[in-house]
Amino acid sequence: MILDGKKIAADIRAEIREKVAALVADGKRAPKLAVVIVGNNPASETYVNNKMKACAEVGMEAVKIAYPTEISEQTLLNEVSRLNNDPSIDGFIVQLPLPDHINESAILSAIDYRKDVDGLTPANVGRTVQGLPSIVSATPRGIRELLARYQIQTEGKHVVVIGRSNIVGKPVALLLMQRPYLSLPGMSAASLGDATVTVCHSKTQDLKAICLTADIIIVAAGSPKLLTADMVKEGATVIDVGINRVDDPTSPRGYRLVGDVDFENVAPKAAYITPVPGGVGPMTIVSLLQNTLQAALNR
Ligand code: NAD
Repeated sequence: MILDGKKIAADIRAEIREKVAALVADGKRAPKLAVVIVGNNPASETYVNNKMKACAEVGMEAVKIAYPTEISEQTLLNEVSRLNNDPSIDGFIVQLPLPDHINESAILSAIDYRKDVDGLTPANVGRTVQGLPSIVSATPRGIRELLARYQIQTEGKHVVVIGRSNIVGKPVALLLMQRPYLSLPGMSAASLGDATVTVCHSKTQDLKAICLTADIIIVAAGSPKLLTADMVKEGATVIDVGINRVDDPTSPRGYRLVGDVDFENVAPKAAYITPVPGGVGPMTIVSLLQNTLQAALNR
């Protein structure tokens, strides 16, 4: 069965739209997101524009703050401080990656965790580790929500995560191993967490043997066809986070997007599988909206 992230994300957007409309009808202002973008990386521009569009679709306000590549780290830190203190902004993100001369970690650490709707600040990650109320980064939150909406239980299941990045691999592993007391406002009721999680990475030995013991495999490596059918147990759930461009002369753009999974051959063995595009991607964007609404309500 295909896990239709596009459809679930549309359902969640409709729910958010209703909640925002109710706030406004109640005389409150709509939640407001600020997106800071530095330089003109085309992929980042696309991501940022999609986020702005998504906000507009649910009736939230969004403002884009663009800086040239040459901006100093101090100027960006000043902007972060301004946004931390701006009462009209409920949440903001600094689009990554940043130019090499800017210390990403210094910027993220300066963001007030209550406005950190990307969930990437050390404060939010630490709070998540300890099961305190926190804002969880968008992709892991989206994956958990997708599993919940399809009622795929994780309790006692063996989850194998391929990839150990700060934005996907590590936080998704953490979320799924947590005791379910870490509830996210607005999340589906299904109890998610309590899994036995194995995290694999580029130095892991015998990835295939480990994957074959998995009930759920989450692949976030950035490597097309990394997960092949011989690595997947019959009836497993496969979540493909990867977004890779591969040459395709038949496409007007000259390329198409594929995930990290050999979808064609893995799908017949999997009980559930996400497509790329249309799986985790739309869930990531809608999670940012959920996080922004959550940040606004928390205030
Ligand atoms: P990253 O690029 O920072 O790191 C990749 C990770 O995969 C590393 O931890 C590495 O050890 C591991 N890895 C790479 N090759 C491997 C191999 N052959 N075997 C085992 N492990 C291997 O990771 P990221 O930023 O989490 O991104 C991963 C992929 O997910 C990329 O394709 C990215 O574009 C995509 N992504 C998608 C979304 C979404 O919304 N769908 C969000 C974030 C990232």
